[in-house]
Amino acid sequence: MKKKYKPKYPLVWQKDDFFIKIYCSIPNIATGIILTTNNSIFVIDPGDGILRDLNRDKSAAEILSISDIFISHGHHDHVGGVWSLLTYLSVMKKKTPLNIFYPEGCVEIESIYNAFLQVYSHELTYQIKLHPINNSRSFTRKSIKIKPFKVNHKEIDEEGNPVAVPSLGFKFTYNGKSICYGGDTAYTETLVKMAKGSDLAIIEAGAEDESSTDLHMTVEQASEIGNTAKEYFLVHVPD
Ligand SMILES: [Zn+2]
Repeated sequence: MKKKYKPKYPLVWQKDDFFIKIYCSIPNIATGIILTTNNSIFVIDPGDGILRDLNRDKSAAEILSISDIFISHGHHDHVGGVWSLLTYLSVMKKKTPLNIFYPEGCVEIESIYNAFLQVYSHELTYQIKLHPINNSRSFTRKSIKIKPFKVNHKEIDEEGNPVAVPSLGFKFTYNGKSICYGGDTAYTETLVKMAKGSDLAIIEAGAEDESSTDLHMTVEQASEIGNTAKEYFLVHVPD
């Protein structure tokens, strides 16, 4: 039997002060990623356990300085930690705004946000700014250029048919170095294009087998894309 590929978390990559750490990326369980430079901390896909992982890794002051969250899509293994993170930031009296960038139409993030405000707005110490993204225009946050791009992720509806979910990948460029994170996606030319030549590509290989490539990629497909970058991590590999 072919040996299964298994990433060893956390996965860490660094060039000068451009640093990324993937605490975990396990399908149906949780994802959790931080991207940092000397003067910024971003969180990408805060799944369940993100607060525990941040707390182990960073001081309270550093956690309070998180300025931006990037969401690839609304599946629970990518957003499950949002509620506790938002609550912690208020309990610890964060003062600076928190920006959340997410694909337009991502009902999960807007629902969590609305429910959160309903419960905590009277004591909330910081401003939460939602930024639904519906195009591929680049923008810059804390000297990091962010290029969102559409990927091809689906879920199965009640009738058993695959339906597209609003989903994005992100390419982060800082000091001439780039990290391409594809989120969850089936094989798509956009990701092929964005990953190519990146200093680091983070590519999901979530397909259980050749028959489920509607939703995710096989290790072979993901490696093929990863190999066009200078370095790559395969993530989201089924246990
Ligand atoms: Zn997903």
